[in-house]
Amino acid sequence: MTRRGVAILGSTGSVGTTALRVLARQQAGFRVQALTAFSNAALLREQVAVHAPAFVGLVQPSDAADVAWATGDGCLVAAAVRDDVHTVINAVVGAAGMRATIAALEAGKRVALANKETLVMAGALVTEAAARGGGELVPVDSEHSAILQCIAGRPMHEVRRLIITASGGPFRSWERERVEVATVADALRHPTWTMGRKITIDSATLANKALEVIEAHHLFGIPYDRIEVVVHPQSVVHSFVEFVDGSVLAQLGVPSMELPVLYALTHPDRVADTGVPAFDPVALSPLTYEPVRHDAFPALGLGIAAGRQGGAAPAVFNAANEVAVARFLDGAIAFGDIARTIAGALAALGDRPGDTLDALVAADAAARTHVLEFA
Ligand code: NAD
Ligand code: MG
Repeated sequence: MTRRGVAILGSTGSVGTTALRVLARQQAGFRVQALTAFSNAALLREQVAVHAPAFVGLVQPSDAADVAWATGDGCLVAAAVRDDVHTVINAVVGAAGMRATIAALEAGKRVALANKETLVMAGALVTEAAARGGGELVPVDSEHSAILQCIAGRPMHEVRRLIITASGGPFRSWERERVEVATVADALRHPTWTMGRKITIDSATLANKALEVIEAHHLFGIPYDRIEVVVHPQSVVHSFVEFVDGSVLAQLGVPSMELPVLYALTHPDRVADTGVPAFDPVALSPLTYEPVRHDAFPALGLGIAAGRQGGAAPAVFNAANEVAVARFLDGAIAFGDIARTIAGALAALGDRPGDTLDALVAADAAARTHVLEFA
């Protein structure tokens, strides 16, 4: 087998560094050809020394950057469409990852997508780009990787329901009033996963689960009324698929992103790997499930409603959430204000059209301006 070239967009982040750990063990099948990061030149330099990629991009260069590196926003697309790249791992956080996903799919690449914001903002355009260019979209998100593995190539008319699991985040059992005023330190203390700051806050508000419902809708082409969410605090069952005969499949594993990253690289095949500890059902038990408390976590319902509304509403939801999370992390707004901010932006801008990339980019920008002006 020839080694497949891999580009990692966002190589210095949580998913990016996880992907490099996986790829370091999987050198028989894969070669790191391109790395991009936003501003962490020091870590990027270390990664370049180990993996010797042919292309390196740093969006915001500093004195620590190498003069040979590409710079500016364009370096993501440049890395994604290279001839020596077969698979693009998009591990960028936020809407900034969208253009590179579309360009890679149009160029016929496999995109291993962690950057779920891309699908939320422009799901239809992204799936159209894949159809047009012959590219292939494979999820890295653990829930969607689980669903893909359970569906295992069966036609979608055999699938009755997707049940996406949610850890419930650090405030799963907190009273609503206490959640409203939770601190940044509280919100960053995720019970089961270690991740970047933005997705960790999204996991505390459950906005992350709304993004994942919309992501599942686009990835698997399934209507919203056949996607459900259940709280599963142990994060061992990564999701369920119910088939039309009533049988239910689930995919299980210790909570580590190494498993879904590796599967996104090798799908539909599997390769031997030793990255995570052996599965021990006794040690991981009991596995429990609870309903979502929508009163304490309104961002989930707002996001699903935006998904159902369609047009630019999901892009407005995503952009308002991104800005609100950044403001919460800066100490400018309370935890409960994140969902209120999203609701305000959706009320003002949710019915804008979203049929072209330009319309979606404009709605994204309008939502960001709206949130900052009403702050
Ligand atoms: P992170 O903050 O740890 O890393 C983000 C990466 O993106 C960094 O390498 C950074 O340099 C780069 N980046 C940030 N802004 C950029 C910009 N404007 N332009 C170009 N590059 C930019 O985030 P993360 O936790 O690794 O999450 C990345 C994505 O994966 C998110 O969409 C997140 O929702 C998704 N995801 C993460 C996990 C996880 O375990 N961390 C799990 C599932 C999905
Ligand atoms: Mg997930």
